[in-house]
Amino acid sequence: MKRVAVLTSGGDAPGMNAAIRAVVRAGIAKGWEMYGVRLGYKGLIEGRISQLGVRDVGGIMQRGGTVLGSARCLEFKTKEGQIQAIRSMNQLGIEALVVIGGNGSQTGANALRLNDFPVVGVASTIDNDLFGSDITIGVDTALNIALEAIDRLKTTASSHQRAFLLEVMGRDCGYLALMSAIAGGAEMVVIPEVETEPEEVVQAIWRAYEAGKAHAIIVVAEGAKYNANRLAAYCEEHQERLGFLLRATQLGHVQRGGNPGAFDRILATRLGAAAIDQIEKGEYGVLMGWIKNEATATPLEEVVAKKKPLDMKLYELAKVLDR
Ligand code: ATP
Repeated sequence: MKRVAVLTSGGDAPGMNAAIRAVVRAGIAKGWEMYGVRLGYKGLIEGRISQLGVRDVGGIMQRGGTVLGSARCLEFKTKEGQIQAIRSMNQLGIEALVVIGGNGSQTGANALRLNDFPVVGVASTIDNDLFGSDITIGVDTALNIALEAIDRLKTTASSHQRAFLLEVMGRDCGYLALMSAIAGGAEMVVIPEVETEPEEVVQAIWRAYEAGKAHAIIVVAEGAKYNANRLAAYCEEHQERLGFLLRATQLGHVQRGGNPGAFDRILATRLGAAAIDQIEKGEYGVLMGWIKNEATATPLEEVVAKKKPLDMKLYELAKVLDR
């Protein structure tokens, strides 16, 4: 009988619980013993590992966040930390680990692979910046939350003739900002992939005013050179050229806290189960991601070395539609 552990790491993402549930239940269905690690790599180093049964993962699928908890752990970046983590698993006879998380977490998984520990990653981050997955667990729900915020801001902005700068998450990746701008019909989007001067934002707001719009919504990615606060400071200096009164809003962690939608629950379930199939085949050192509508394994070595490009055709499309 195999003993397999699962952990969640890095920023929490809606759907992580569905992935944990799928990993645990698919493993038990194969007759394996399944273990949950509390608080990501930190818990792995501290040996906070306990067995999970079928019922332990019941009633969690609809909840946002992660029932196992997550943590950022600097110690795991060191060789000693990694050896200690492997020692914790060896003590319990754990033969393989599933790591549910984003870029940093999969870099950690790759470190375990380099230490010859059998590991399989599951692509989960709201940033959608992970090479090896067209879409990652949590993105769709986070996008819908950002969209709801845009819709609401539009209502109030229109009532008061205002312009809003809405900052959304995504780290260095503009995906979340770009897609929420397209789906929300924003007047402009500012992303890290395209250098945008504050003056361009002033002009976009003025264009919307001149066009007779009742509002202007500018979506700003948190990783952009000029974030929402910096852009707001510039725009306020040029208030007379805006037409609208300006407000800046940071969506912040609200984006991560939602209950996962159907898409994320199903994606997480499929990737979680695929990770177990991968372990059964004995093909380790890979990330299970969603590529061309299928659960697909990509070597972790490649995942950590490559940057996922943003589809710039979508940026061009946003520019065509924002008039
Ligand atoms: P998200 O993108 O959703 O925020 P993430 O997985 O990218 O999630 P990080 O904070 O970057 O989140 O990484 C999570 C953890 O992964 C870190 O706290 C650390 O323990 C581990 N990790 C990150 N980079 C490395 C590395 N180079 N080597 C070993 N472990 C790492």
